[in-house]
Amino acid sequence: MTFEDLGLSPALLSAIADAGYEKPTPIQEGAIPVALTGRDVLGIAQTGTGKTASFTLPMIERLSRGRARARMPRSLVLAPTRELAAQVADNVKLYAKNHKLNMALLIGGVSFEPQKKILDQGADILIATPGRLLDHFERGGLLLTGVDILVIDEADRMLDMGFIPDIERILKLLPPRRQTLFFSATMPSEIKHLVDTFLRDPERVEVTRPAQTAETITQYILRVSDNQARTKREALRAAINRDGVKNGIIFCNRKRDVDIVARSLQRHGFSAAPIHGDLDQSQRTKTLAEFKSGELRLLVASDVAARGLDIPAVSHVFNVDIPRNADDYVHRIGRTGRAGHKGEAVTLVSSEDSKALAKVVKLIGKEPEELKLSEDTQAAPAQDAAPQTEQSEDKPKSRRRSRSRNKAEAESPAAEPAKAEAASESVSETEAAPRKGRSSRNERSQRQDKKERPDRHERDLSPVGFGDHVPEFLLRPAL
Ligand code: AMP
Repeated sequence: MTFEDLGLSPALLSAIADAGYEKPTPIQEGAIPVALTGRDVLGIAQTGTGKTASFTLPMIERLSRGRARARMPRSLVLAPTRELAAQVADNVKLYAKNHKLNMALLIGGVSFEPQKKILDQGADILIATPGRLLDHFERGGLLLTGVDILVIDEADRMLDMGFIPDIERILKLLPPRRQTLFFSATMPSEIKHLVDTFLRDPERVEVTRPAQTAETITQYILRVSDNQARTKREALRAAINRDGVKNGIIFCNRKRDVDIVARSLQRHGFSAAPIHGDLDQSQRTKTLAEFKSGELRLLVASDVAARGLDIPAVSHVFNVDIPRNADDYVHRIGRTGRAGHKGEAVTLVSSEDSKALAKVVKLIGKEPEELKLSEDTQAAPAQDAAPQTEQSEDKPKSRRRSRSRNKAEAESPAAEPAKAEAASESVSETEAAPRKGRSSRNERSQRQDKKERPDRHERDLSPVGFGDHVPEFLLRPAL
């Protein structure tokens, strides 16, 4: 099938050709023709399948057929994180370049005023995180009664981050007669309930989950003598010091460790930086841009921060900790070995990780090879920088926040570490204010205003790049 077969107009086909896409991915083949008819779509697909184009293309097409309404957005895209919202905005810019459509990106961590100004000028398309959208609505600067098309992206992640009550609130502010394009990688019961309540006879389009890992990725485990953080950092450095490690993403299970590992690597002379939800928006955007440009060699990340980010192919993925959730292992290592390129994944494993390793082996259906390091690469620098970096977690500036995070981690059952991290990420993100008792608008605004710096806005709207490829193993249509 070609893009022409999907029923898109020449203006869009030309933008698609400029983006370098030759043929639609399975989710695009399934969702675009249905969405063009105005029907609701339930898309079950992960990042990397081309899902963003599967809702942005029909949305642009339908908007271009309709008429602009003064100061009233005609479509709304909700995304769980600022980065994802910014990525959707980049997609819209790319595909709508031959159309006269205005767009506003409403995300937390950046100034209200420029966003409000764009809204006042009139935007056809709103792309927003739920918290910031509600803040604009509560301040009275937003009318949602003209929204004909609603997109909810990564609904299951919205659930992880506690956004469902916000989504329900937003849904009630929209006209009931609208089209809803709803995307989620998984369908837990809360998401099913949302779909049953708010979608009208949706067409379900599903692409298979990556049950196995790409052939192009060589997977290794590197056994470490104990589970001490210092031992792991030493092993990590040795693994990075091998030949062929061009760049890489280093995953840790906990946000706190992301910072510690990044600082330790920096002290050992590596080009490394952390990315997680506690970092301020301009820092995250800068780090991501540097990693994409090749200026930064190693990105140290948590699962929640990395999921959904459109990061170009890397030569290596390192797992400092084996993820507790085996699916996360597949997501993590899927960052390498893309588009036919060879990649390597190295997972550090101690005797305490045997259960988690068994789950991964079961899921991927094979045992990763054991990595044996040569004498040269093993020679670690005499002094590990760790103790200082661990202490620096307690520096006065971040003391209060660290304590509450640690409390959240300590209180969460060991069996649910992923949730604990998601919860602590969400507390830290401005748009992820606690859902149960949402703080008052004033409180939130004050919090927000403290964080605001006017110059961030421009940077967040800058293109992130589309050099990425859809991994082959994600492109199989569902049977
Ligand atoms: P997504 O799943 O939307 O995050 O898309 C993942 C990547 O696939 C992005 O870098 C897109 O630019 C790219 N992409 C989307 N559609 C296609 C296509 N039909 N052919 C090739 N690449 C695509």
